[in-house]
Amino acid sequence: MDPSFSTESAWKIFEEQTINAYQTQQQVLEEILSQNLHTEYLSQFLGRNSDREDFKAKVPVVEYEYIKPYILRIANGEPSDILLAETVTALTRSSGTSAGQPKMIPLTDRELDRRAFGGCLRSSVVNRFVDGFERGERMHLHLQFNRPEIKTPSGFPTRSILTSIFLSKYFEQHESSLYTSPIATILCLDSKQSMYCQWLCGLLYRNQVVSVGSIFGSILVRGIKFLEDYWKEICSNIRTGQLSDWISDTGCRNALSTILGKPNPELADSIEDICNAKSWEGIIKKLWPGTKYMDATVTGSMLQYVPMLEFYCGDLPLVSKCYSSSECELGINIKPLSKPCDTSYTFIPNMAYFEFLPIHEDSEESELVDLVNVKLGRCYEAVVTTFTGLYRCKMGDILKATDYHNNTPQFQFVRRKGVFLSVDMEKTTEDELGEAVKQANLFIRQFGLHVTDYTGAVDICSIPGHYVLFWELKMEGSSDLPELSPGTIEQCCYIVEESLSLVYRVSRKGNGIEPLEIRVVKNGTFDELMDFFVSKGSSVSQYKTPRCIRIEEALKILNSRVVGRYFSQQIPASTPLKW
Ligand code: AMP
Repeated sequence: MDPSFSTESAWKIFEEQTINAYQTQQQVLEEILSQNLHTEYLSQFLGRNSDREDFKAKVPVVEYEYIKPYILRIANGEPSDILLAETVTALTRSSGTSAGQPKMIPLTDRELDRRAFGGCLRSSVVNRFVDGFERGERMHLHLQFNRPEIKTPSGFPTRSILTSIFLSKYFEQHESSLYTSPIATILCLDSKQSMYCQWLCGLLYRNQVVSVGSIFGSILVRGIKFLEDYWKEICSNIRTGQLSDWISDTGCRNALSTILGKPNPELADSIEDICNAKSWEGIIKKLWPGTKYMDATVTGSMLQYVPMLEFYCGDLPLVSKCYSSSECELGINIKPLSKPCDTSYTFIPNMAYFEFLPIHEDSEESELVDLVNVKLGRCYEAVVTTFTGLYRCKMGDILKATDYHNNTPQFQFVRRKGVFLSVDMEKTTEDELGEAVKQANLFIRQFGLHVTDYTGAVDICSIPGHYVLFWELKMEGSSDLPELSPGTIEQCCYIVEESLSLVYRVSRKGNGIEPLEIRVVKNGTFDELMDFFVSKGSSVSQYKTPRCIRIEEALKILNSRVVGRYFSQQIPASTPLKW
């Protein structure tokens, strides 16, 4: 794919391909097969002249773990064409927080071209809906938390896909000038220095900014919390034209030395006036008056951040631009101004070959369907065959087909597969838990409280077991731990239980499950949880708080920071609330 396309040509290509979705997908599969039939992986199932039908009949649908040994062999020095034909340049490390262990996936220059195409497509979509978007700058908090690059024994760097994109020629030539953050501040190894400098630059350019964002809602919320703690110091740097001494990273210092310039007391005064307000409600539009939208993925497990972000962004739309992963780019939101709960992603037919495994309540059908054959209203697990060595590999993401753009289906992200809490017969999925926490969150807002992050676990130390939710809470306008009335949090326990499935509530009534517990943790606990997962190899740039924790060490971190334990005091109703 030619990486020199413009945003307009990317949209034209996308239109043609979504009209000819079936043909495009067949071509993609043919191309992948013709390139890769000779690989050790495919040749064990297919002969040299195999076609699409043979592929479907003979290549097994697998979990990532099945392909992993080939990737490890490449990492350890065997030729990469045991798995793929394109030349490998790096191994992409996934966030790994939803699926347990981070995955390693081969990366090639051509894959980076495909990602660049995805980037152009996203810009072209936003251009169509947001007036003046092309002329402004983007204050996008790229929290790389860039761990030192680890090389495999064969010499391939392992990094997150975002780091590879930031390091690419395409980003340098076409994208970096669109952002307020200089690349050195993004790639800085120290997350605190990186975040500080990026906010500082964003505020220095506050009148040019058209969008404020980060890759995921969770990172943006963390970033805004950081700004609440550091805005005074940032203002003082702007006032004096001097960068704080603790910013020791040479790249950051050099980048800021050209941007910070002369003392600017007027700018410092105006930012201080805004930040000094009693409430930070709608602060984004006040600090960046030209902002047209907030750019952060807030679908799926990120939906819980919507209330907090809405608080900060006032009436600005929250835009989830794409559905993307370390495996490949999958979908794009062509109605960027739609509400997060209504957001669907149109699959991009030339990114990979997509198949779909229908999902039933308690079993999985084995028959895969093609992209163009999904049925609206049904849920599926996405299965991808990529140019970079994944063949019929299950993604673990459950999606619901909602509509079509031209002849290409659109999907809503529902949840990660296999992530659930279960004590008795019930299985509470992360989206169900998210919805229940949302209800409790709505309740405590009347007291000026927000749940800033949460996760769940099952405690079966005593039988029957019970659900434990770890909550980090914040009081509006204060970064101290709020005073909590036990009755309020106990009521939250009950609201969560009331919102869970009928199977849960019936088990609760029948004493199959003990009362749900909320453990309130100290501020900063979820940052420490993230640090823990990063130390285990997760890529923080794409980190998502796991919603169901089973790992002992992670539970230890949470339990050692508990400041209050509260239990549900009532048995939830066990009649169906709705059909
Ligand atoms: P990673 O490979 O670490 O970038 O993680 C990719 C995973 O993030 C996907 O498989 C999804 O589970 C999740 N994800 C990516 N984009 C979205 C989105 N737009 N909405 C919800 N979840 C997403």
